[in-house]
Amino acid sequence: MSAALPSVSRAHALRRPSLKDYSRTALRERFAARGWPAYRADQVMDWLYRSDVDSIEAMTNLPATLRSEIAEAFDVGGLEVETTRTSVDGTQKLLLAAADGARIEAVLIPEERRHTLCLSTQVGCPLTCDFCATGALGFTRNLTTGEILDQVLEARRRLPPGETLTNVVFMGMGEPLLNLPAVSEAIRVLVDPKALGLAPRRVTVSTAGVLPQIGPLLEVAPIHLAVSLHATTDAVRDVLVPLNKRFPIDALLRTLREDPNIHRRRPVFFEYTLMEDVNDSIEDARRLPGLLRGIPSKVNVIPMNPHADAPYRPPRPEVVDRFTAALHAAGVRVTLRRDRGRDIDAACGQLANRVAKGAANANPTGDVGPADSAD
Ligand code: SAH
Repeated sequence: MSAALPSVSRAHALRRPSLKDYSRTALRERFAARGWPAYRADQVMDWLYRSDVDSIEAMTNLPATLRSEIAEAFDVGGLEVETTRTSVDGTQKLLLAAADGARIEAVLIPEERRHTLCLSTQVGCPLTCDFCATGALGFTRNLTTGEILDQVLEARRRLPPGETLTNVVFMGMGEPLLNLPAVSEAIRVLVDPKALGLAPRRVTVSTAGVLPQIGPLLEVAPIHLAVSLHATTDAVRDVLVPLNKRFPIDALLRTLREDPNIHRRRPVFFEYTLMEDVNDSIEDARRLPGLLRGIPSKVNVIPMNPHADAPYRPPRPEVVDRFTAALHAAGVRVTLRRDRGRDIDAACGQLANRVAKGAANANPTGDVGPADSAD
């Protein structure tokens, strides 16, 4: 019996496309190609993102025959929430499962005047960054646009009544720029005023630096870009972020300096995970401002969240302070990420699906969740 089970990727490939896999423009085109009027696509978008229905049957302003034709060609199902965990600080971690059994995590972070969702773009991640728990999982597959958007819809259902999701950060599992087509379509739906309706500046996509995809990403919408820098020399970054061997620091910063879509109103958020005796020296703090010269930027310092899969530790608080103070003194805009979700493994870089990996009792400590995605 066991040999008959399709593999994860094969079961996934057999799936019908979801209505949530398309931006408005693409869905209209799909509908037109089948001879259905384009405004029917708008009605479907309305049901999916404003009325939040999860069945085609429930789209009652569509004729019954059209509904059954749509149901033959498209799905609406996607990720299902398997478990949720809530931190003492209100941060919620959602473990979501796809039809093929793949599991990913998303984190909803409530703050005083905003609700931020940190979402995943891949099942695992191919980049193997040395300090990242997701990197240690290996890579299974890309998420579809529908699966990316399902994380948003599920998060929205968990907000207190009357409150809205204000910010979305692509900082969960995976490298968004290695799944750019699906990520781009998801962004189009996120910022579509009649769909999810987020202001583009409230959407942040984080990359380890897949240079050829940065330009195309920033063409999609005027969102914020975050770049995982983490080092001031190639020798150190080659170890922490192996992608650096293909796209070294110089080339990365040159790309950012030259991209016409990066300007004062949309500074780049540089993420710098501080690790004791690795990248936390005063020399690092002195080199960093020079590297960033000419790029409108903010630096997000994230003390390392330790976990069982990596040997790195956060520096002592006084070393963190010394580092941020040196940047500040050099005129760099710098923020220190606050502690969020530390008791539920929801902190930055800890999304590793421990339940599925059978390590539910792993006990990482550490600070912060993803944050500071703009205004
Ligand atoms: N692949 C993308 C998206 C991941 S975002 C990227 O690399 O940007 C998650 C952020 O958390 C990245 O900046 C990542 O480098 C950082 N991170 C990963 N593991 C971490 C850890 N254990 N502690 C603190 N930050 C971590």
